[in-house]
Amino acid sequence: MSLANRLAEERRGRLAAERLLELKQAELTAANRKLGRHALALTKQIGVSQAEVKTVRVENEKVKSDLTDAHEKVVQAEQRLWHSIQAFQDGFAFFDSDSTLIGANTAYLNIFDELEEVVPGISYIRILQLLTDEGLINTGDVPMDDWRQMMTERWMSPTPEPVIVRLWDDRYLKLLDQRGHGGDMVSLALDITTTVQYEEELRTARERAEAANRAKSAFLANMSHEIRTPMNGVVGMAELLNDTNLTSEQSLYANTIKNSGEALLVIINDVLDYSKIEADKLVLHPEPFNLEQSMHEVVTLLQPSARDKGLSMMVDYDLFLPSTYVSDPGRVRQILTNLVGNAVKFTKSGHVALRATGVPTQDDSHCAIHITIEDTGIGIPEEKQAHIFGEFNQVEDERNRKFEGTGLGLAITKRLIELMGGEIWVESEEGKGSCFGFRLVLPISEPKTVSVPKLPESLRVVLVVDDQDVSREIVEKQLLQLGMVIERATTREEALQKMENRVDLVICDCDMAETDGVALAKEIRGGANGQVPILALSASPTIVGDPTVQGLANSILTKPVPRLELFKQLSAIGNGQQPQVATPAAPEQNVAVEVQPGEDLAHAAVSGAPKMRILAAEDNKTNQLVFRKMVKELNIDLKFANNGVEAVEGYQEFKPDLIFMDISMPIMDGKQATSEIRRIESTTGKHVPIVALTAHAMTGDSEGILAAGLDFYLTKPLRKNLIHERIEAHCPEAVQPLRS
Ligand code: ADP
Repeated sequence: MSLANRLAEERRGRLAAERLLELKQAELTAANRKLGRHALALTKQIGVSQAEVKTVRVENEKVKSDLTDAHEKVVQAEQRLWHSIQAFQDGFAFFDSDSTLIGANTAYLNIFDELEEVVPGISYIRILQLLTDEGLINTGDVPMDDWRQMMTERWMSPTPEPVIVRLWDDRYLKLLDQRGHGGDMVSLALDITTTVQYEEELRTARERAEAANRAKSAFLANMSHEIRTPMNGVVGMAELLNDTNLTSEQSLYANTIKNSGEALLVIINDVLDYSKIEADKLVLHPEPFNLEQSMHEVVTLLQPSARDKGLSMMVDYDLFLPSTYVSDPGRVRQILTNLVGNAVKFTKSGHVALRATGVPTQDDSHCAIHITIEDTGIGIPEEKQAHIFGEFNQVEDERNRKFEGTGLGLAITKRLIELMGGEIWVESEEGKGSCFGFRLVLPISEPKTVSVPKLPESLRVVLVVDDQDVSREIVEKQLLQLGMVIERATTREEALQKMENRVDLVICDCDMAETDGVALAKEIRGGANGQVPILALSASPTIVGDPTVQGLANSILTKPVPRLELFKQLSAIGNGQQPQVATPAAPEQNVAVEVQPGEDLAHAAVSGAPKMRILAAEDNKTNQLVFRKMVKELNIDLKFANNGVEAVEGYQEFKPDLIFMDISMPIMDGKQATSEIRRIESTTGKHVPIVALTAHAMTGDSEGILAAGLDFYLTKPLRKNLIHERIEAHCPEAVQPLRS
């Protein structure tokens, strides 16, 4: 090869090499640029990561410090909790679900008298074993094994009942164990030694008090009995005395003895009953008796006092209720008398209604009887209702009473009803009235109810004339049961208007307020339908016994009408017979002691001078009579006041020279009346001597009495010579001489 060729070849080779170099260099540059971009991106990324790492580190630091704080707090709380548990006077421990002791305070561990074995890790069963083996527990009569078994069973139950254990040193612990989360058990051992001792003392004290109370009641029962016996003699003899030839004055005395004795007997009977119940000595004597009849008898007994006040009394005995039961009839009557007596006593106007309903038991052998006594009287304030069944509890203040009574009636009634297995309650609204109710479950003696007569078609429409809704409704209810059609009237006009239509029978109340029932009966007789049978109803014996009424009415029935009696009369009318005039068993009326003013003044006026004027404030009529008799030989002008208010009025109108003032009086007592008189005197400058007459002969009473403005005081029973002494001491000069 030529040199030129070689050179050309070399040049070509060099050129190719140079091109390759250039190519490689371009590639290198591109790679370098890429590398540079990567390096830049990486540097940026590293920067971000570094920042992040820094933040995390800061956060880590904070978390670490928070954790340390939290840990410190937990430790502190745990310590506090533990110190508190340690501070307990009572034992505290907790066990895991395997009954292994996890922890206990010192008080708990002290129970074991420093037994080294009792530390966390010991099982509850072992603890029980140690308690018995080491004589730490006093199980009384219960054998140790039994005791442990009982305690183990208790421990294993899901909710162990609290238990009281006695330790060897007579300390008492109440163990309260509560299962917690995951079967752990928290145990409390409360030291109740003082409570147990206190309860023991209380029990002994109560037993002693009950024994004393029983002894007191037994004593009272004996005493009352002892008083009752001679008292009965007094009453009986006074009655006998009355049957002999007596002057009117002697008869008044004898009657007074009898009435006072009877009043005292009622009180003594209450005390006797109450003491007997208290001393658990009251025994019931059950026998068959007629409940409906008893209710009517009680009403008949109390009818006179109710009639005097213008109260109507009614009995609503459910038609389908049997009448005869087995119980202590005397005690049932006593319950009824107490409740009906109170209803009459505390009711001024309106009515007293007795209602009896009942539900027989499934086998018809017994009946749950529900009796209510409803009145329209003064009512009982709500806050007092709970107390009236307690002994000696009266709604009125003792010193200022308008109503007499021992305050034992309801307490006895309640106890009697409870003794019969029943219950009593009251519903009342002050100023509106009261309703006492009681429930008794009594064996039925004769299941028969009253047989309802079958009345003929000719006796279907009945006109009931009565202005009192309650009593009319009761009669209507009974008539409806007989299938009668009721027409009702509350006035004369209404009645006469109704008479224009068909009326087969007239039942007319003769005690209506506006309408004169007797005159109405006369008008009916004279009218177009004059032959219609008339049944007259009245609570008044004068009407019942009145021949005019007897001539007008086919029958006169006393209110409240027993349903048997009503049915009998209706049957007679229905059968076309002339019904008999039902003669009422008029209850004996209480003989009230009437004191005639000015009676027995032995001495006539001597001159124109006035007599010495004496005002005696005394609520008890008998004491008034006694006082009058004691001063009868003195030439005085005597006036009585029945209560404190009348005493103040008497002082102002009568202008007495001397006042005798009873302390315990209704409406206003003697002390209040005296204060009032002294207040009036402060404006006149006068001073009337006032002598207190008091039954309160207790120490300390005299100060209270004299402090009220009374000048002297005499204790009851009254003594004639002391009264004369007072009168003579205060006799003014310008009056007629006291004695001739
Ligand atoms: P007391 O002998 O005073 O009547 P009770 O035990 O029978 O004693 O009654 C206690 C008190 O309950 C009475 O004093 C009276 O305040 C009140 N009370 C009882 N029954 C009635 C009633 N029907 N209406 C209003 N108050 C009554």
